[in-house]
Amino acid sequence: MIPFAVKKLVFYAYKKGMVKMLGCIFCQIAAREKPATLLYEDDQCVAFQDINPKAPVHILVIPRKHISSLNDEIKDEGLLGHLLVVAGRMAREKSIDRSGFRTVINTNAEAGQTVFHLHVHVLGGRIMAWPPG
Ligand code: AMP
Ligand code: ZN
Repeated sequence: MIPFAVKKLVFYAYKKGMVKMLGCIFCQIAAREKPATLLYEDDQCVAFQDINPKAPVHILVIPRKHISSLNDEIKDEGLLGHLLVVAGRMAREKSIDRSGFRTVINTNAEAGQTVFHLHVHVLGGRIMAWPPG
C-alpha cells in the first residue's frame, strides 16, 4: 500500500504543476518526448510551430508546467506575462511585428480550444479578419 505521506507529496506536486499530465501532447512536447519544431525554450516556457498552421506564421507558446486553460486557478501571474513577452519576441524573430500579428488564447469548447494545455497562438503573415469567426 502507498503510504499517505507519499500520496500527499504526489498530490502537492501535481497541484503545483510539477507532475507532467499523462497523455498531454503539449507536456510531451515540452519534455521533448514528442516531436515538434521548437523555436524557443527557457525554464518557464516552450515555443514551437503549430502542426496545422492557420496563417503563414503560426507559433504556439506554452508554459512548461501543465495548466489546462485560463479557467484554472493560476497563481503565477508572472508566468502569464512571460508567455506574452515570448510571444512578442517570436513575432519579432519571424519579422511579423511591424506588419502585425495576433495573439490568441482559446478557452473551452465554444472558443475552439482543442488542446487542454494552456497555449498562446501567435499568428501573422496575412491580413486578419475582425471580429474573429
Ligand atoms: P486550440 O484549438 O486553441 O486548442 O489550439 C490547439 C492548436 O494546437 C491547434 O492550432 C493545433 O493545430 C495545434 N496542435 C495540435 N497538436 C499539435 C502538435 N502535436 N504539434 C504542434 N501543434 C499541434
Ligand atoms: Zn500538459
